[in-house]
Amino acid sequence: MARFTLPRDLYFGKGCLEELKNLKGKKAILVIGGGSMKKFGFVDRAIEYLKEAGIETLLFEGVEPDPSVETVMRGAEAMRQFEPDWIISMGGGSPIDAAKAMWVFYEYPKTSFKKILTPFSFPTLRTKAKFCAIPSTSGTATEVTAFSVITDYAKGVKYPLADFNITPDVAIVDPDLAETMPKKLTAHTGMDALTHAIEAYVSTVAQPFTDPLALEAIKIIDKDLQASYDGDMKARENMHYAQCMAGMAFSNALLGITHSMAHKTGAAFETGHIPHGCANAIYLPYVIQYNAVNKRAKERYCEIAKMLGLKGKSGTALVNALCDRIREMNAYFGIPASLKEYGINEEEFLAKIDNIAKLAVGDACTGSNPRPITPAKMKALFTHVYYGTTVRV
Ligand code: FE
Repeated sequence: MARFTLPRDLYFGKGCLEELKNLKGKKAILVIGGGSMKKFGFVDRAIEYLKEAGIETLLFEGVEPDPSVETVMRGAEAMRQFEPDWIISMGGGSPIDAAKAMWVFYEYPKTSFKKILTPFSFPTLRTKAKFCAIPSTSGTATEVTAFSVITDYAKGVKYPLADFNITPDVAIVDPDLAETMPKKLTAHTGMDALTHAIEAYVSTVAQPFTDPLALEAIKIIDKDLQASYDGDMKARENMHYAQCMAGMAFSNALLGITHSMAHKTGAAFETGHIPHGCANAIYLPYVIQYNAVNKRAKERYCEIAKMLGLKGKSGTALVNALCDRIREMNAYFGIPASLKEYGINEEEFLAKIDNIAKLAVGDACTGSNPRPITPAKMKALFTHVYYGTTVRV
């Protein structure tokens, strides 16, 4: 049996933040990040709309990037004190991810991260509150996904949480919020969304319901990401929807080893932190070459290339054309083509790569990758990524 789960309601269009007026409830906790939503006036507007709905709001601010276990526990405690019937989170991936985890500990104070680490093993939520997500960046699509990533800084590990229980009830996808994104963030989050869509389309658990969403997202991102980066706000709006479609696809079809590699290298090198979307952008063309050995994956990459109007007389030529298109986008955004070019020190890379390769193979995203991989092959693939050489693994 396969399952396809999305939020019950999705509001979109400029100014649709206003939909908060129509929520039915008594008390809402509004979870936000560092302050950009406040600075641009969206927090005040949200609280005003909720007031019009007769809902009393408690603001929980200061969720850090890569939210910690402590922040989650603090938020859950605030919820237990205030007893909201709505959890509303507005901002980038971090506050929304944190709020999803707070929700679990609000409703089940006695559970632990250890207990909910097994994918799709959560207790039933919505006994106390429903969840509304309002994204301000165009990439993670956490407003429609079953995922959340929380960091345990004391242990130095990330907890990737996955369960349809934490798929939000309502997503408010208002492009006005995405207009506040700086250029670099627009590029990185956009390339993250492209990676979501491509990985979902070739995933071993891709389904008839996720394929059209993945393809449409790829088409829009190919057409609009560069213009959005250059400040075209109509393109920015299209990107906000495209990343959300990509999220609907990968929440149900899962991802692949581009993400496994990005997860395990983001904070691994002292000579360079690699933002999630930037890591995906660098790795994606290499992973496509690696995966194209698999017949079904190759066919699917060719379908994508043809849809984008790329030219090639053979399957291999089409796959290469797709990789070239991704490299062309990266170059446009100033994203380097290799880890060496990114500035990761060679000695540090060589010292750490055995361990990183092993960890990447063990990542939750590896299982749905179209071609299996061993630690030795992962190391070889990473070596190509480091030096920028053609994949022969
Ligand atoms: Fe991602």
